[in-house]
Amino acid sequence: MHTTLEKRAISLAAGNSLCFEIEGPSFYEEYMKVINDFDNGKEPENCNKYQPFENWNWEDLINHISNESDFILMHFKQLLEDAKTGLIKSATDCTLDSDLTTLCMQGMVDKGINKDDLDKYIMGDEPMTCSKCGSRTDFEIKPDCSQKHECLKCGYIFLAVENID
Ligand SMILES: [Zn+2]
Repeated sequence: MHTTLEKRAISLAAGNSLCFEIEGPSFYEEYMKVINDFDNGKEPENCNKYQPFENWNWEDLINHISNESDFILMHFKQLLEDAKTGLIKSATDCTLDSDLTTLCMQGMVDKGINKDDLDKYIMGDEPMTCSKCGSRTDFEIKPDCSQKHECLKCGYIFLAVENID
């Protein structure tokens, strides 16, 4: 069973490579039919491959969609983590409005990724890689000589510092 988040990620990834004959917010069910057909050795007939993928075989395309949906899911989870961090911080500094209907979740995400809340790692001789997925990162050097890294794959943001004090 897939979670709601997984279904959304699969749906988005499938919709980037495949054109389905149905209209609708979710291609998840349709894409499950594609997988089912493929597993049973049948040619999926409820969709067409978008042009860049026209000549791909189904096995490669299904693997590609699976990888894409994993990346999307990592981004979703990171955003939820950032929102959670923002909520915890707001509860701690007493800025959380008691009227939760006015709660701005985008503001919570912004607050969650604030530099002060970022995870810190000690810089070593090896180049820093993402501690969540091991991929390469892009980084900028801050005035205090710390490095703010962003994972090129999953989007995880963290600080590399010379020492933690
Ligand atoms: Zn990563």
